[in-house]
Amino acid sequence: MKVTILASGSSGNCIHLQSGDTGILIDAGVPKTKIEKRMIEAGINPASDIQAIFITHAHGDHIKGLPLANKWRIPVWASEGEWKNIQAVDDDLRRVMDVGFDMHLFGTFWVRAFPTHHDSYNSLGYVVGWENDGWCSICLDTGKVDAEMLEAMAGSDVYIIESNHEPNMVEASSYPDSVKARVLSDIGHLSNEQTAAALAKLIKGKGERIYLTHLSNNNNMPALAEGTVRRALRQKGFEAGKHYHLEVV
Ligand SMILES: [Zn+2]
Ligand SMILES: [Zn+2]
Repeated sequence: MKVTILASGSSGNCIHLQSGDTGILIDAGVPKTKIEKRMIEAGINPASDIQAIFITHAHGDHIKGLPLANKWRIPVWASEGEWKNIQAVDDDLRRVMDVGFDMHLFGTFWVRAFPTHHDSYNSLGYVVGWENDGWCSICLDTGKVDAEMLEAMAGSDVYIIESNHEPNMVEASSYPDSVKARVLSDIGHLSNEQTAAALAKLIKGKGERIYLTHLSNNNNMPALAEGTVRRALRQKGFEAGKHYHLEVV
């Protein structure tokens, strides 16, 4: 499975997964032309390498580029609640993702959606898998990782997870108190510590690939996010490069 993070962070998120002839996007949170440009730079053909787009939730940094779907006639999946805030997709391309932890077969790949905890209607995380090419869990904006989410993601080969902020940096930032409270709440974003704790429960040391994404520009640093995860996994006896592979995007 080839993972290409086309965009990551508060200014936009877009992930491409490819196995054989099938490719999908998780979120399309930067403008259409930017997605196309980055795809072409990465050797991905927008006309043939996106069979479906799966949306985590309807915040701008995840849906801004959805006119891409109309141009290339790509079906878009999102939860019923999130469709309330998505206007940019033609009616015949809208698909409702049900949230029941069930696996759905999409031609050559499987998808399961699980609820996350965020200040939108029904935000989702996804587990995507190809029978012979492994499983990938995608867990973006969420204020916490609960037992059901861990259960849904367990056993994956690839984890793409947000590591949004360092709480002390949020507290010390110039953000208004209401924004600080939102980011730090149970329906905000994951701190480095929360992400590390979740990964410590998920990683088995079988060579999993971890991508830390959606880092805050103002309230995090790549070295902090990476160090926090490495430390938590070292306590489990796992070393980066040997038992797992870590990339901060
Ligand atoms: Zn969000
Ligand atoms: Zn976001």
